Amino acid sequence: MGRSVPLPQVFPNQTATGRRPVSSECEGVVECTALVLAESCTEYEDRLTLFGVLDEIRPNGAGETSFVVYTKFEGCEHASDRERRARILVTDEDGEVLIESAEYSVYLDGTEEPVTIVAAFDLPEGFEVGEQLLWIEAVLDEETLSQTVVRIHDRYSV
Ligand SMILES: [Zn+2]
Repeated sequence: MGRSVPLPQVFPNQTATGRRPVSSECEGVVECTALVLAESCTEYEDRLTLFGVLDEIRPNGAGETSFVVYTKFEGCEHASDRERRARILVTDEDGEVLIESAEYSVYLDGTEEPVTIVAAFDLPEGFEVGEQLLWIEAVLDEETLSQTVVRIHDRYSV
């Protein structure tokens, strides 16, 4: 169950055979086209702004270390317009879920705007700091469409 390659990777939703002939019928592709961690965000007049994009998390030592995860899901024009369930998971190196967002109901028929979800997380209290990695996963209908990894940094280390 462990994940042996602790590198940031993006796994787009690919077909099993990879390449497919142009202009054959598409079964509808849905992708997570953005997965970003930030310190915080604000929404003003329908424009979302992220502050302090993170590639590592430095716990503040007071037991309240929070961050937000921004995700964007897009469907191609052939994607069915059925309801899908999206959520964001934070897991440890063994794949165990530490925190998860609420589940959001999304529709991606390809003619609408991409769907963006922003979820705020607090590091679990007493979270062990060290050379530790957190995996952030964008999940749609129980399938991880994209994942990234972030290092938890001891704030006292250089
Ligand atoms: Zn398509």
